[in-house]
Amino acid sequence: MESDQDSVRALKGIGDKTGKLFEKLGIFTIQDLLGYYPREYHVYEEPSPIGELKVDMTGAAAGVLQKSASVRAFQNKKVITASLRDETGTLQLTWFNMPFLKNTLQAGTYHVFYGKVVKKNNRLTMEQPEIFAREGYQAMMESMQPVYGQTKGLGNKAITKAVAQALLRRQMEREYLPAYIRKKYELAEYNFALEHIHFPENRQQLLFARKRLVFDEFFLFILAVRRLKEKRQDRKSAWVMKAAPQVAKLMEDLPYDLTKAQRKVLDEIMEDMAGGLVMNRLVQGDVGSGKTVIAIMALLTAAYNGCQGAMMAPTEVLARQHYEGMLRMFADYGIDKVPVLLTGSMTAKEKRMAYEKIKSHEADIVVGTHALIQDKVVYDRLALVITDEQHRFGVGQRQMFGDKGQEPHVLVMSATPIPRTLAIILYGDLDISVIDQMPSDRLPVKNCVVGTSYRPNAYSFIRKQVEQGRQAYVICPMVEYSEMMEAENVLDYTKTLREALPGIAVDFLHGKMKGKEKNEIMERFAANEIQVLVSTTVIEVGVNVPNATVMMIENAERFGLAQLHQLRGRVGRGKHQSYCILVNCGDQEGTSERLDILNRSNDGFYIASEDLKLRGPGDIFGIRQSGDMEFKLADIFTDANLLKTVSQEVDRLLEADRDLVCPEHQELGRRLGKYLESSYDKVNL
Ligand code: ADP
Ligand code: MG
Repeated sequence: MESDQDSVRALKGIGDKTGKLFEKLGIFTIQDLLGYYPREYHVYEEPSPIGELKVDMTGAAAGVLQKSASVRAFQNKKVITASLRDETGTLQLTWFNMPFLKNTLQAGTYHVFYGKVVKKNNRLTMEQPEIFAREGYQAMMESMQPVYGQTKGLGNKAITKAVAQALLRRQMEREYLPAYIRKKYELAEYNFALEHIHFPENRQQLLFARKRLVFDEFFLFILAVRRLKEKRQDRKSAWVMKAAPQVAKLMEDLPYDLTKAQRKVLDEIMEDMAGGLVMNRLVQGDVGSGKTVIAIMALLTAAYNGCQGAMMAPTEVLARQHYEGMLRMFADYGIDKVPVLLTGSMTAKEKRMAYEKIKSHEADIVVGTHALIQDKVVYDRLALVITDEQHRFGVGQRQMFGDKGQEPHVLVMSATPIPRTLAIILYGDLDISVIDQMPSDRLPVKNCVVGTSYRPNAYSFIRKQVEQGRQAYVICPMVEYSEMMEAENVLDYTKTLREALPGIAVDFLHGKMKGKEKNEIMERFAANEIQVLVSTTVIEVGVNVPNATVMMIENAERFGLAQLHQLRGRVGRGKHQSYCILVNCGDQEGTSERLDILNRSNDGFYIASEDLKLRGPGDIFGIRQSGDMEFKLADIFTDANLLKTVSQEVDRLLEADRDLVCPEHQELGRRLGKYLESSYDKVNL
């Protein structure tokens, strides 16, 4: 019996080697593949007059060649060029190493050319355009071509073919949305939506498919949140805590005063933990607002009440950083409580030792990744669990410690700046505290948006900062070179920087490295043994090295504003003036306007709202706020209106049929169960 849970290797043409490449993309099963939505679509529009082609756009031009193409040799390559002219202008066409095209591109023949427009020697040029006959292009115009995220060795064609095959062989999903809801919101049938998100015939159909899938993402998410809320509301707690004098003393001993906002939030947490009910609280605070120290104080309160506390982070790097920060702080301020680290990349022996310390309560505080929730871990009097960077975890994980002993207090922390109205929906199962103030000793980060020609200046600026003892991050969007994407990559950039900055320790970090290697690099960076760290966005969340003062982001135009803001949040964490250099490597007009928002403001909340204004709710192909929540298609900002609508619909539904037992809701109940299950082991990285 064929099932969507079958490995992608069940598809024709996918053997061991290609299977591994799919796994690299996080695609293991047919179901994963079907849920691997295109990043964008190529639209083959009516060819434009040459005069209307703009640099950086991808488009088509058509016409009769006046002269046959010519071939010449250039740096070991054979370059073939032709030129296309109409009343509005002239377009150069060039191809490398395809001399055989000369036969096709004869004077007097008609072709359509499709490709990216650039400026070369001050002339409008298409490089490596696709060539179509009139009829061939006409056929392309009738469909949109999906473009998937790719990896080296696994290109778009192969992925597209696999998806098409998977769509053919899959089991049809039973419709689970009640008919009255589909009708009311004019939603596509599920199978239709799934098929057409991959292969839409036109934009309208794509929007129709997308709306259904976004609706589903919100609908199931909110239902799950409501389930959690019901389960957790007003539960008596076995853990009633007293304020600990040692925590008050630590607060006095720290070299800084807590901000007013930090104190208010800490009070709210303490009140919850002392109040007799199970705490379910979200702490929202912009990057750098000082959430960690609040978490530590809550954990210590649990420890001094004879209980255990656990703190979970979405990455190894972050977990280790929290652990080491605690070790240092406890040593510096004479705190006699013991933290223990538990992460996936530790050796079996190290893990065993950690398990023992946790079970015997030698450990007062356990810090780690989602290794913390494995069955093997047995806690003793676990009374408080904290998840850092909550938006990186699935909703099911909000209750994952629930079955570890007696229902612990739950605190989740997030830096995603979302308006209160949305927070109430997305975190409906939680009470919300906001740290709406930055530590007063901070100098605001100085920003600049520059073009690629500024690089030499940036490098000498970095050199000067390093000579003063500071450190720098340089972010590239890609790990390694790819033919598919013209963007800077970590491996090549590291080489370039090592040459440009002799005598300075330049090293790199990316998500494809082993856990142990990553830890080592981060430790050396934290110890200032590495002075310039070239990295992908793996350092986006939570990393805290206050001595780093420069954040240089290559291809800034490729990132969402929220993501850029998170990246920038890695600097400006100490007393030194910090700088953020955004390198804009494209020259689309909208880009500089977007980046200018970051230039103007360091306030995450303002940035998110301006970003929304600029993109507008209809802009579904804009750059998504990556990593937020667990939505694949939905964007909580641009789809905010739909989110609100869905929330109201869920209210109505649960009021009428709280347990989803009516015949027309039974399928939905089944689907929700499946959703909650799969959401348990989801971490968005
Ligand atoms: P985030 O909220 O992004 O998790 P962190 O908790 O990592 O931020 O705090 C960032 C830095 O600010 C840390 O180095 C921390 O020691 C420091 N910090 C926290 N609170 C204060 C404060 N009230 N005054 C000065 N520095 C603070
Ligand atoms: Mg943090």
